[in-house]
Amino acid sequence: MKTALDWSDYTDAGMGDAYADIPKHGGDYGKAVAVCIKSGLCQQPGDRGLMCPSFRASGDKRLSPGGRVELLKQLLNQPAGFAAELPAGLSAAMDSCVSCKGCRRECENAVDMARIKIEYLAQRRHLPMPAGRRLRAHLFATLPHWLHYRPLFKSLIRWRNSSRWLAQLGQRWLGIAADEPLPQPALQPFDKYAAYRRTPEQCDLLLLADTFGHHFEPQLLDTCLQLLQRAGYRVAIAAPAAGDAEPDRPLCCGRTYLSQGWVDEARDEARRMLQAVGPYVERGVPLVGLEPSCLLTLRDEYRALGLGQAAETLAANSLLLEEFIAREQRSGRWALAFALDTELDVSPHCHQRAFGAMRATRRVLQSVAGLRFTLVDSGCCGMAGHVGLEAEQQPLSDTLWQQSEAARAPEAPLTLRNGFSCRHRHRQRAATPTAHLVELLSQALPPGE
Ligand code: SF4
Ligand code: SF4
Repeated sequence: MKTALDWSDYTDAGMGDAYADIPKHGGDYGKAVAVCIKSGLCQQPGDRGLMCPSFRASGDKRLSPGGRVELLKQLLNQPAGFAAELPAGLSAAMDSCVSCKGCRRECENAVDMARIKIEYLAQRRHLPMPAGRRLRAHLFATLPHWLHYRPLFKSLIRWRNSSRWLAQLGQRWLGIAADEPLPQPALQPFDKYAAYRRTPEQCDLLLLADTFGHHFEPQLLDTCLQLLQRAGYRVAIAAPAAGDAEPDRPLCCGRTYLSQGWVDEARDEARRMLQAVGPYVERGVPLVGLEPSCLLTLRDEYRALGLGQAAETLAANSLLLEEFIAREQRSGRWALAFALDTELDVSPHCHQRAFGAMRATRRVLQSVAGLRFTLVDSGCCGMAGHVGLEAEQQPLSDTLWQQSEAARAPEAPLTLRNGFSCRHRHRQRAATPTAHLVELLSQALPPGE
């Protein structure tokens, strides 16, 4: 089987282990699936930790990492592999994985179902599927292109959000849940690239203007620029390299492509990113981002795209804003003092938890004088990028939101959510406001400092 992702990390997995039960087909991908040791940990009831949202919401073992492994093994033991008829339940099991990456961190043997799902989708991409479903996957995957090249697309989103008729048409044709408002693009995208073009020698850090910040919440990027500059850093904004075939299109991590299994397109985006930021990170200039799902793609999936040492260097130099500030505070370089007299719930993005980034969040929040915060042990909010927009996933998505809300103190005046889709869901469904960390820190600065 020719795989879309590079699975060579698993070449030696389970070799010589009589119990590994490696599938007959699938090569290293099959070995990645077979690292499950059937401990059953992911199928225990409970509400601590992240793994596994879809199992917790359904109680169905087939919708746990271990259950998915069993079904995938059945498929990979057939000579026809992905071209064969899918085992009963596999399609529903894979579709309901919200790619939280919880199993990557919490499973005893680090089954990485989110990455396994990307390969699954890539293998099935060109097989027959309903036309509406294919078009929806296309729209979700190519969102960064539509937002950049088709300004009318933004108007269409606004029109759809205000027209019940259009929303219902979208559900009938594309399977986009009519009752779920779509994130609304900003009237003006982020536009500070020209003013922050600097060589690696002229800057201390490179800011990643991710697709969601660029098109939907440019004020977050502005706030981040102001904060970092007040702290004394020389900031450059990551922009396409000289000679890029699309010099005006913002850089993109490729997350939307990966989430639909469009690995070749994601690799193209990754190459473009590497070309642009490579000269900076090779000199130790960190790339700093606000959106966990985008920034952490550079630390995670990029290493499975077969891009060699350049991707490793980028992964080692990519930091979330909270990680950058915590690092600078530890080293004594961070010059700003924060103070804010308020209470706060902190609801992590799943990928922040899966990559251990909440330690940095906690450290930075502890440095804010007067702040009283609670780290909420909530699972996925149910939006999970595009999953919460899919009509057939609404029951799962609704249950996930209710379960994650049960863990949060509803009276907290503010909830910190660093994920774009988490904030979107919160604004639709919660009575209290939500903010990104950069907004909170900006409020916590003494006036005029
Ligand atoms: S996926 Fe991980 S936690 Fe679940 S049964 Fe397999 S080894 Fe255990
Ligand atoms: S990525 Fe998340 S939803 Fe998917 S199997 Fe792992 S824990 Fe479950």
